Amino acid sequence: MAASDLTADPRLSAEGGDPDLALTQDLLTFLEKSPTCFQVIANFKKALLFKGYTYLPEDTPWVLLPAGKYFTTRNGSSIIAFRTPDPAPTGFQITASHSDSPTFKIKANPELKEGEAYIRLNAEPYGGMLMAPWFDRPLSVAGRVLAQAEGGVTEIPVVVDRDLLLIPSVAIHMNREANKGYAYNAQTDLLPLLGEGADAGAFRRIVAEAAGVSPDAILGSDLFLYVRGRGSVWGASNEFVSAGHLDDLQCAFSCFRGFVSSEGTKTPAVPVFACFDNEEVGSLTKQGADSTFLEDVLSRIAEGTGMTREAYHAAVAKSFMLSADNAHALHPNHPEKADPANRPLMNHGIVIKYHAGQKYTTDGVTAALFKLLCQDAGVPFQEFTNRSDMAGGSTLGNLSNAHVSLNCVDIGLPQLAMHSCFETAGVRDTGYLVRAARAFYGSSLRRDGDTLSWVQG
Ligand code: ZN
Repeated sequence: MAASDLTADPRLSAEGGDPDLALTQDLLTFLEKSPTCFQVIANFKKALLFKGYTYLPEDTPWVLLPAGKYFTTRNGSSIIAFRTPDPAPTGFQITASHSDSPTFKIKANPELKEGEAYIRLNAEPYGGMLMAPWFDRPLSVAGRVLAQAEGGVTEIPVVVDRDLLLIPSVAIHMNREANKGYAYNAQTDLLPLLGEGADAGAFRRIVAEAAGVSPDAILGSDLFLYVRGRGSVWGASNEFVSAGHLDDLQCAFSCFRGFVSSEGTKTPAVPVFACFDNEEVGSLTKQGADSTFLEDVLSRIAEGTGMTREAYHAAVAKSFMLSADNAHALHPNHPEKADPANRPLMNHGIVIKYHAGQKYTTDGVTAALFKLLCQDAGVPFQEFTNRSDMAGGSTLGNLSNAHVSLNCVDIGLPQLAMHSCFETAGVRDTGYLVRAARAFYGSSLRRDGDTLSWVQG
């Protein structure tokens, strides 16, 4: 995708039309060009380089300059970008979102022959997905391969950009129970069909061709299924957008737009955009939110900007994080699944998420401060709690807070069908989060006795 697709100002790209629809088309392009976490991060990286940010590899010493623009990545699937203020920073303004989505990961030695008739691919679930939506759709694979080259191993991002696979349903005539609550078996029901039986080795050849290497050179891979095709805007007033990976790329995209578009504002805090992999499988990887990645980067910013250890601790205490991960909208057919009072609607603004057991980090203080920020930015907000008899999901903020503990609010954009491979959200809400993130990145936190406030610029 063009780097400018991720960085353009939606107010300028609408050309007299509806800016929310223009922004939604940019979101759909980003989703279409980002079939796995590796392409998500590669696209952010490309956009940051286009905007003049400097890439800092983690395994080299960093030299940071005042008023500099930087980013680093881990595993090619998580990214943290930041700007250094001039003079030394007084805090960190962080958004955290995630780059991964539930899908199926291709196993080692994936080709399974069914006699001479068919070749299927052996795959296993990644994350907790709704399985039914995966049937009878054109699918393909993307991710990365590790190829042997010049005595070493080179990482190559790969997208097989054609309709390649499909998981066929069993006909109703052969499974009369199909509409009565069928329990899918991931090892037998969900394996995608690749082709007819004679063409053994085809999968490896197809992936190698997409990567531009010989099949024998591939020593490793991280490949995932993805749904083919572009998402769609629909509804009586074009108010809905449906696509794969809205959880959480709608938030990641919006926070990123807010981050790059806040560049003109001078603030004594460090604006930090963080997007982590592996949220859908618990975040406990070296690049997940429950790793040292954020803590390592904040420490290096502190050292690189000449902060003492004491100044760093004071700055963390004056920091704020938006943990941005999509939220459940009221379901049209199942309103009884929602809390009696807190029932977010699509196109009605950013959702503040609460949980008494603190799976969401939001507390009275951080909710109040976030509402204040939204009010100042003219952005609507609404509130979500689980029904008291439902467990609900988990997210990034509380895990990240175990490593760097700071003020945090859990927010998200309202959507339907979370963890389907084709989710639905509101076209107005993306712009709300872009505006809130832009205001957030242009602010810093101030304490005056018992009063906390946002200082703009
Ligand atoms: Zn999520």
